[in-house]
Amino acid sequence: MSPITVAKFGGTSVADFQAMSLSAQVVENNPSTRLVIISACSGVTNLLVELANGVDAARQQALLSQLQQIHYSILDDLQQGDSVKSDIDALLDDVATLAKTAAMASSVQTTDALVACGELLSTHIFAQLLRERGNNAARFDIRDVMRTDDQFGRAQPQLEAIRELVQSQLAPLCQQQMIVSQGFIGRDAQGNTTTLGRGGSDYSAALLAEAIDAGTLEIWTDVPGIYTTDPRIAPKAGPIAEISFSEASEMANFGAKILHPSTLIPAIRQQIPVFVGSSKAPEQGGTWVRKSADSSPLFRALALRNNQTMVTLHSLNMFHAYGFLAEVFKILAKHRISVDLITTSEVSVALTLDKTDTSGGAPQLPAAALEELSELCRVEVEQNLSLVALIGNQMSHTKGASKAVFETLEDHNIRMICYGASTHNLCFMVSADEAKEVIQKLHEALFE
Ligand code: ASP
Ligand code: MG
Repeated sequence: MSPITVAKFGGTSVADFQAMSLSAQVVENNPSTRLVIISACSGVTNLLVELANGVDAARQQALLSQLQQIHYSILDDLQQGDSVKSDIDALLDDVATLAKTAAMASSVQTTDALVACGELLSTHIFAQLLRERGNNAARFDIRDVMRTDDQFGRAQPQLEAIRELVQSQLAPLCQQQMIVSQGFIGRDAQGNTTTLGRGGSDYSAALLAEAIDAGTLEIWTDVPGIYTTDPRIAPKAGPIAEISFSEASEMANFGAKILHPSTLIPAIRQQIPVFVGSSKAPEQGGTWVRKSADSSPLFRALALRNNQTMVTLHSLNMFHAYGFLAEVFKILAKHRISVDLITTSEVSVALTLDKTDTSGGAPQLPAAALEELSELCRVEVEQNLSLVALIGNQMSHTKGASKAVFETLEDHNIRMICYGASTHNLCFMVSADEAKEVIQKLHEALFE
């Protein structure tokens, strides 16, 4: 059999009956699509997270009825919604039970069990819709093959186990039927439900595409591909037809919301081309992400990431000494703090914290880490910052590239410039309230 296509649909693509129908059409348009990975219906994960944080009985009731209403309203539009109603009801009961547990004592483990219900629910409905449209489709519980470690909330996939399980349990099914399954969720070796972190469905789909040796990975969302920047900020931003893996990874890392940052890693490992498009307007085309793109312009795109936390460490002990950074990173590693950007001077180091948890807002430096770092040096923590990243090709090897950027931004205060480690990006921090304007000015000067 020729390699299959794995198609992933995000929350807005399965938000209601109409969105699901358009997504079903997309699946049917490509006969090689044998594995369909979907997110929870739009908004559902947020409701579940709220329940998982522990709320009073009245709020619980309100959230539960919202969840019921979202799923029931799709069932109502199905011809035989009743055939999956008992599955939906059983899951809604699980949600109610877990919500009560969470209200008494919330834990990361309960949170994962609870938020996983969003995908477990949506897949029952989408599989039924595909069947009603005449497809031979079945729902599969991805936890049977998506083996992870037990870091609840941000579980790490165990690639070897996943490949083995996918090849033995999922691949044979995909030969016979169209399989609909869940993004975002997995299971640890003890049998507990885990999640890969918010927005993790893209990553799930890519991991499965890798494990099943897919020929193509399609990521269907609500925008027709990757844009030069967010069109809500710069209205003249336009779609990019083709982009290389390296450029797209930089974009995802630096906050272009369209792809989850980890998504491309499995695709790059296996060199699986990735298509990004809108399930609501597939005729508008989208973006192909491949090993190499036909064009490699100096400036490709601009990304913006809000809610940055910048930590500056000052110490005279750094002056002509060795081992200081090692100490700093030892503390950060001990507290499992992932660092994003870093710049140094002789007596200070500035770094930004990576956002890996599921909470909203800017990442926090844990109090214990702050205390240990403070024993070593003076620590300053700043928030209300945004990261601006310019993605392109050969930037640090091209005369005038940085001049074009900094000249455009002469009226702004630019901090923590990172440039040169990768030829694909130039990034820096600006104060949050200037971020949009900075993106607009750069887009106009470099892309319009
Ligand atoms: N439903 C999950 C979330 O909202 C995963 C995803 O949509 O990718 O984070
Ligand atoms: Mg999503």
